[in-house]
Amino acid sequence: MTGLTITRVCHSCALIDMAGATILTDPWFSEKPAYHPGEPIACPPGQLPPLAGVFISHGHYDHCDLAALAAYPDKAVPFAVKRGLGAKVRAAGFANVTELDPWQTAQLGPVTITAAPAKHLVPEITAVMQRAERTVFFGADTLHIPEFAEVASRFPKIDTALLPINGLRIRPLLNKKVVMDADEAAELARILRPSVAVPIHYRFTGGPLGDRLILKHERSPGHFIEAIAKRAPGTDGRILAPGEPLRL
Ligand SMILES: [Zn+2]
Repeated sequence: MTGLTITRVCHSCALIDMAGATILTDPWFSEKPAYHPGEPIACPPGQLPPLAGVFISHGHYDHCDLAALAAYPDKAVPFAVKRGLGAKVRAAGFANVTELDPWQTAQLGPVTITAAPAKHLVPEITAVMQRAERTVFFGADTLHIPEFAEVASRFPKIDTALLPINGLRIRPLLNKKVVMDADEAAELARILRPSVAVPIHYRFTGGPLGDRLILKHERSPGHFIEAIAKRAPGTDGRILAPGEPLRL
């Protein structure tokens, strides 16, 4: 069995180590007004381990912090990104970029990335990462959509799923929902049947004003753990503090 280690950096930013090949997801390392991780950032970009590649689901600042990631020294590291983000990645100094739409694939070192559908405020993809017999689903900050049934049929054995859970709504857009909530994430775990599901995308805060005027969201992962026990009892829900490795 090949080793698999998941370590959250913060928010949806995580290190996924598949037998020694490490993929960084949705980089976020800095703060600005109305964008606060709400939890420690486990690792600054200059201290990241050597990466096999970087996956970026969409262009929102809290998932695509290329200004901070420019401190990462290996400029040849390959990126797999949602189609349309390539120019932004190249402008940050990284030349090796593959742009993807759902079901297209890219190779990040020995890890195969298959883009999967997503639905959000802006164009987005989720991802399935595979090396040898190990498979990881990365849910970025998508809504729950029927297309995820196809992920389950194409990838019947998923070891770990990283699932967003904060049910983010945008108050000025009539409380439009743009991220799945904890119950929907548990429902997605029922569909994907991973051995382990790790909640992501929940400590983030817009600050006192941003949360009162713009954002509406749930910031605790406890509800997800309860929901998964009810809806997907075959999946183990595991909360990870930033920097706390989960070895599988
Ligand atoms: Zn977003």
